[in-house]
Amino acid sequence: MTSQFIAIGAFILRLRDYQQASVDAVLTHFRRSDDAAVLVLPTGAGKSIVIAELARLARYPILVLAHVKELVEQNHQKFKDYGFTAGIYAAGLGKKQTEHAVTFASVQSLSRNLEQFNGYYSLLIIDECHRVADDSDSQYQRIIQHLQSNNPQLKVLGLTATPYRLDKGWIYQQHYHGYVRGQADVFFKKCVYELPLRYLISKGYLTQPLVVDAPAARYQFDELPASYTEAQLDQFLARCPRVTQAICQQLLQLAEQRRGVMIFAASVKHAQEIASYLPAEQTALLTGDTANKQRDQWVEQFKQQQLKFLVNVSVLTTGFDAPHVDLIAILRRTASVSLYQQIAGRGLRLYEGKSDCLIVDYAGNNYDLYQPEIGEVKPNPNSALVQVSCPKCGFANMFWGVCDKDGELIEHYGRRCQGLVPVEGSPEQLTQCDYRYQYKQCPQCNGENDIAARQCQTCGYQLSDPDKLLKEALQLKDRMVLRCSGMSFSAQEQQLSVTYHDEDGAELKEQFNFAYAKARLAFNQRFVRRISGPVGTVNTVEQALQQLNKMVHPDFVIARKQKHYWKIEHRIFDYQGPYRKAHQQY
Ligand SMILES: [Zn+2]
Ligand SMILES: [Zn+2]
Repeated sequence: MTSQFIAIGAFILRLRDYQQASVDAVLTHFRRSDDAAVLVLPTGAGKSIVIAELARLARYPILVLAHVKELVEQNHQKFKDYGFTAGIYAAGLGKKQTEHAVTFASVQSLSRNLEQFNGYYSLLIIDECHRVADDSDSQYQRIIQHLQSNNPQLKVLGLTATPYRLDKGWIYQQHYHGYVRGQADVFFKKCVYELPLRYLISKGYLTQPLVVDAPAARYQFDELPASYTEAQLDQFLARCPRVTQAICQQLLQLAEQRRGVMIFAASVKHAQEIASYLPAEQTALLTGDTANKQRDQWVEQFKQQQLKFLVNVSVLTTGFDAPHVDLIAILRRTASVSLYQQIAGRGLRLYEGKSDCLIVDYAGNNYDLYQPEIGEVKPNPNSALVQVSCPKCGFANMFWGVCDKDGELIEHYGRRCQGLVPVEGSPEQLTQCDYRYQYKQCPQCNGENDIAARQCQTCGYQLSDPDKLLKEALQLKDRMVLRCSGMSFSAQEQQLSVTYHDEDGAELKEQFNFAYAKARLAFNQRFVRRISGPVGTVNTVEQALQQLNKMVHPDFVIARKQKHYWKIEHRIFDYQGPYRKAHQQY
């Protein structure tokens, strides 16, 4: 482990090894590129120190943005602690200083006074950068565009603990470990450094969590539909007053040995009910509607440990810092691992005399505190993280999937390989590997497209909408729609017959004569391409027969009536939509 000591006046700035590594990663990136970059550091990693060190090393002048005055103040204070002077530009702090080489500003104040920042800035650092929206008229984007108009090479660095948002997905496109996360049009192009939570805990920089997954009382949130309205949620919770009461009783017991308790409620009504079971003189309830002044006062009393219980509804998941917290109670469903980790993270700060933090999940979320974010909502309760190697580039993808009892992969829900590969012709540039596990094939050029694509990305051909195809075919008398539940094969010399079966015994057939190149190609494109793992090309009937058990059948087959037989026109693979597939319940 190496630490760097930098003497500044009477102060010594000592960076932890990962803080130094993140600073180095930023410098290396911006030496080569003007693309906006992200540092992912969990809460408690010491973001302010990284910002201070970057501010010290950067070519002046620079701006450091945050969305709340507390963060502006905190980042500024850290910089000052190391013996530097810097300005503050935040109406909430009563300061509008613009004459310093380094300015710590609030987003609101700066975006309202852009004309005061008409000069050249080399670097813009954005704290809590997951808030930067991609639409060009957001406050952040207007600031960025304004600064870029004076310096087209402006470097933009974001810091966040939560690079994944439920509504928008990943905030950056490429990860430095060589894989793709977000869409090509997201604002931040690259994550240049990411520190896992586990590292901070194992090194003793954060408190050890004690996770209680199956407490005595808990909500059966799985009885709620996958997506639900607040009214449905309140209805559900209104049916379990005993559960809420039992949870609160247990919390009171657990809290006897604890200093500070944060409770995460599902809705305002729910929070009010919870608060009603807790001692009034020790409890505060914060919602989105709590007035700022009142909120500040309660938070301060909580930090002073005059209040013991802080009940909140999605207002304290980020940017809240009360190190003494040693009991986190989760009474709400969390739709992503990141959100769960953020909530738990509120209790992991170090504090004198605190040896662990109890994290009690009363909502049956069942997340692993250290699990990486997948970026897709867990498709069903049976799915788990699985590793799937790409047959084309070898990248080890992490997808949701289902394994059998022996850990053998049964199926996975990945659509496309997330590996980064060099662009053909300019190997220093990276792009997403084009291997797809699920795809819609273009009938014109055979190119592969995302299953939701409407137009071929290679040739622009208008791709048929499977729902439209099915709807039309179901209405026409001379069409047959087979809900395919399996395939069987038979071979005669060079001729391979494929039979598609439905659940009721109906079938459709087609032949591939391997003596002809065209038939070989069609067979490979239709079936072999979908086999996971290295298979290559199938050139003979014998080779085809060896792979049969691995071949995936289409979900629907559509055929048109000819004089003496049904001619297959469409095979719909990887279908997602309203029509029922075989073996699905009505
Ligand atoms: Zn790949
Ligand atoms: Zn095409």
